[in-house]
Amino acid sequence: MDHFDVAVIGLGVLGSAAAYQAALRGKKVVAFEQFELGHVHGASHDTSRIVRTANAAPQYVSLAKSAYKDWADLEKATDQKLLTITGGVIFFPKGASPPHVDFTTSLDAKNVPYEVLDSKEVNKRWPQFNIPDTVETVYTADTGIAHAAKTVLAMQSLARTNGAILKEHTRVNRVVPKKSGSDVMIETSKGQFHAAKIHPRHRRMDEQAPLSP
Ligand SMILES: Cc1cc2nc3c(=O)[nH]c(=O)nc-3n(C[C@H](O)[C@H](O)[C@H](O)COP(=O)(O)OP(=O)(O)OC[C@H]3O[C@@H](n4cnc5c(N)ncnc54)[C@H](O)[C@@H]3O)c2cc1C
Repeated sequence: MDHFDVAVIGLGVLGSAAAYQAALRGKKVVAFEQFELGHVHGASHDTSRIVRTANAAPQYVSLAKSAYKDWADLEKATDQKLLTITGGVIFFPKGASPPHVDFTTSLDAKNVPYEVLDSKEVNKRWPQFNIPDTVETVYTADTGIAHAAKTVLAMQSLARTNGAILKEHTRVNRVVPKKSGSDVMIETSKGQFHAAKIHPRHRRMDEQAPLSP
């Protein structure tokens, strides 16, 4: 029976990225997707997802900042445009939670430029909006739109190019840690596999706990 360094469960954007990055680092990777690759039953299909640094928590601002280099690397590796920078606004009606100051404090802490705009300025710059004067707006120039489905397919393709085995129509039914703590057994609709690590790590690896649908 084949042994793998890393087993990935689910090939949405996170699993596809994990499979690609692990394979890129020379790991022997197997990944399981219950449906066909490129299916539309999860959260990662379709054309657009917002990418931005603006966030109420500074640690997420840091993570988002570092992701721009990964987007550039991915675009270079695939010779495809996956991220389009447009600039973006977040509207904060009076009493919004979290308030706009949480966002600006996080952006300040991580040296990300932004503008706080009043409704007059917003309506002037973007006449398609007609926001009331009780709304405050944070504008960040680094906001953009990622092409979700293309990105997922690109990472799956690169994962394969780097040696990962991607198994579609293969549902993981159970994940069982070995008693010694070394290997994990992954029970799928197409047989058993063994790997040193699995992604996602947060899933319960309890013999009694089948994965929920
Ligand atoms: C309408 C919408 C708009 C969004 N907008 C944004 C946005 O603008 N910006 C942003 O950053 N985020 C946005 N998100 C969130 C973002 O899209 C998701 O966080 C992301 O796609 C989650 O990816 P995932 O890989 O974790 O999950 P999924 O894409 O759902 O992938 C999970 C995969 O695991 C497979 N799977 C599950 N169980 C098993 C099993 N037992 N065996 C085998 N395979 C299994 C599923 O079939 C699926 O393919 C949005 C989400 C939605 C739905």
